[in-house]
Amino acid sequence: MVDKVFVTGANGFIAQHIIKQLLEKGYKTVGSVRTIEKGEILKQLVNNDPNFEYVIINSLLCEDSFSNALRAHPETDVFIHTASPVTFFAEDLENEIIIPAIQGTANMLNSIKKHGHNVKHLVYTSSMATIVDTTGNGRNSIGKILTEDSWNKVEYNDGLKNGYMAYCVSKTLSEKLIHSFIKEEKPSYSVAYIQPTYVFGPQAFKIKNYKQLNSSAEMVNSLLNLKQIDKIPPINGDYIDVRDVAKAHILAFENHKETNNKRMVLTDSIFTNELLCHIINKNFPQLNIPKGDLVENERQIKEDALIGDYHKTRELLNIDYIPIEQSIVEMVQQIIDAKEADEKLKN
Ligand code: NAP
Repeated sequence: MVDKVFVTGANGFIAQHIIKQLLEKGYKTVGSVRTIEKGEILKQLVNNDPNFEYVIINSLLCEDSFSNALRAHPETDVFIHTASPVTFFAEDLENEIIIPAIQGTANMLNSIKKHGHNVKHLVYTSSMATIVDTTGNGRNSIGKILTEDSWNKVEYNDGLKNGYMAYCVSKTLSEKLIHSFIKEEKPSYSVAYIQPTYVFGPQAFKIKNYKQLNSSAEMVNSLLNLKQIDKIPPINGDYIDVRDVAKAHILAFENHKETNNKRMVLTDSIFTNELLCHIINKNFPQLNIPKGDLVENERQIKEDALIGDYHKTRELLNIDYIPIEQSIVEMVQQIIDAKEADEKLKN
């Protein structure tokens, strides 16, 4: 029986879906945000659901901030930690990406130790960035079969090279910190690690400002801005829909006996930008973006894509993943709607 679920980074792309699904299932939910303004917006988005409250954690760097939030909600028995910098761009990689992630994770663990006396389950939003070995210019994992037991071999200083490596280090060292903490402290709560790949799909609620999209939506939005003659940037990766990521976080604590201490890699299929452009062009021809070549898609996947075997996660969670075409179409439609609403406001 769960009394209250605490979700950090509650206004984030993934966390909003977690909160939406928690509320739909009738869970009492408290979400942490950095400001009252963000909390009030979220309250409105969930239609002032009486099961939702927000609390302020204004800095991941401040243990007191976590402790005060937990003291205000002592009945919390599930803690979901999603908050972390999600960007590959920063002037100061260490202070804007690496340290807030790692220090935030340490503060979360220590404040649960001191004040989370009822916490029975911890779910940590990790990342595929902790599975793929991004040392050696990111090519060390090519040709290997990755599994839930694979680890990125990055060390702290690798994160100082560029924004992508900073993000990989921030997630890998944060997750490692939890594993060490659990080994040393042996807390009574269960822990599950969720490793999403590239997360696509619509935002949980209507987009308020399409000029401030999260990183995933911005990646797709950048394709909408291409002209038909533009070259499609060659990117490939594993795909998962945000609603399945949210579902996995909830299943992780609901099925804690099976998921305790498990890393769960969420991926449905491999995509390239060629495939994304193909899907967008097929469903929104009026946008006149480059067509996207499925033969080139296959070529890039064969040449560059990482191979994984994540059957353990599929067996544990048994989620019928949302296919990429549905995810991209719903995401693009939401961005188009937001742009049109913005145009109407201007006129
Ligand atoms: P998001 O929309 O950017 O949400 C991130 C959340 O973390 C926001 O609430 C943000 O607060 C908070 N946050 C970031 N930096 C912070 C800081 N320095 N201090 C306090 N709060 C901070 O990102 P998301 O895509 O939902 O990602 C959520 C989690 O999933 C992250 O842990 C990320 O590493 C992981 N993940 C994401 C993807 C993906 O493709 N999106 C893939 C794998 C893993 P503000 O809004 O106030 O900045």
